[in-house]
Amino acid sequence: MQSLSRLTYPAYSLDIPDKLIKKINQDNFNFIWKNKYHYINKSDTVKPAKEGGLNAIDFDPMNGTIKLKWLQNFIIKGDNFWFDFPFKIFKMFGGIHFLLRCDFNISKLPIKLSAFHQQVLQYWKLIYKHNFTPHTVPIWNNRSILIKRKSFFYGEWMEKGVWSIVHLLDNYGNFLTYDVFTKKYNLMCSERQFKTVIQAIPQALITLVKGMLTYSVVIPREPTLTIDAYHFLDKNKLNNTFFRNVLTSICFPSPFKRKHIFEKFTSSCLVKIRTSYLSFPISPKVKEVHFKVMNEIYPCNNFLHQRFNMDVNVCTFCNSDIETAEHLFFSCSVTQTFWDAFQYWIMYDTQNIPNLTYEYIKFGLQMENRKTEFGVNNLILMAKYFIHKCRFLKTSPVFNAFRNDIILHKQSLKCCKTKKALNLHEYLCKLIP
Ligand SMILES: [Zn+2]
Repeated sequence: MQSLSRLTYPAYSLDIPDKLIKKINQDNFNFIWKNKYHYINKSDTVKPAKEGGLNAIDFDPMNGTIKLKWLQNFIIKGDNFWFDFPFKIFKMFGGIHFLLRCDFNISKLPIKLSAFHQQVLQYWKLIYKHNFTPHTVPIWNNRSILIKRKSFFYGEWMEKGVWSIVHLLDNYGNFLTYDVFTKKYNLMCSERQFKTVIQAIPQALITLVKGMLTYSVVIPREPTLTIDAYHFLDKNKLNNTFFRNVLTSICFPSPFKRKHIFEKFTSSCLVKIRTSYLSFPISPKVKEVHFKVMNEIYPCNNFLHQRFNMDVNVCTFCNSDIETAEHLFFSCSVTQTFWDAFQYWIMYDTQNIPNLTYEYIKFGLQMENRKTEFGVNNLILMAKYFIHKCRFLKTSPVFNAFRNDIILHKQSLKCCKTKKALNLHEYLCKLIP
């Protein structure tokens, strides 16, 4: 994933065109699947591990996170020397702080923004839900209040407190006359300018506000900049992870596709199944095989036969039955001999380990004794990897060869100083004195 970190710096100061984002994603996701077939849909792989995904990074939400972080800093440190140039540009729209509250359309703004600033505002539009209420929506920078097909902002009017349609109406919902308006707000503007603004407001919007005014007194309040109930400038809550999660769920709204596999588990149990193995002190390759078996995407012969119409679907070990993952990893007579020896071996330490079924082998065991559960599940994962390796080498999974692998692993664990490595080492010491 070094490629993504290299793109971080350019993304802080440049816009990344959609075409390039697409290409970056294509390269990264091909890398994840080793330039082969993508077994899992992208919308599932970008989900967090606890939801069944791989926590893979899509560059679009990542670029958005960087842009929104820039925006957050720009608002907070707007007077800083580094923001001098954008500060002056956005001042023409009433300042960035005000523009974000407006129902603007980038292409309708009277000044053409740089591609970088446009992209920043696009991501803002994506995460900010503009709660439309006719009296709180500013007339300035409004995508539907246009003069010569462009939105507008009058600084002098804003300074005198004029920004909502309500400010232009009397208590009955009729437009103030020019004289009343200029007197009420102590404002110097031409009658022509006043009339142009009034004419620019769509009739539908006026009717809506009028309707509201007939029922009650309306006091317009500027909309707040909140995202999911947090203020946009709350840097502790709205950090990079928050932005990435929000943007990812917007870009990939579909629910987890392979739900049926995990139907029988409660949600808390499911989180444990999906995440606990990630911190096991074992090789990433072992975890990869486990992930594939658990998610029913292990490329056994029958799987390849069904998906890609491969000729062979017979078992590599026994050469007679169809090689499904269940057969290969559990019910094949050759594998069964291996598991019999395995079960006998682990029972040496604890008697109350249930008889291993394919479900236990596929997802791992849930036991009351956490230490034993941890040890047994580590061994089950390594046993699955051992079977996978034997299939690849076209040899039978012989238990003694597996035991030798574990002895080697035990020795390497001794050199690790992490708590989990030492726990596994301690467990293995009981099985291999
Ligand atoms: Zn077989």
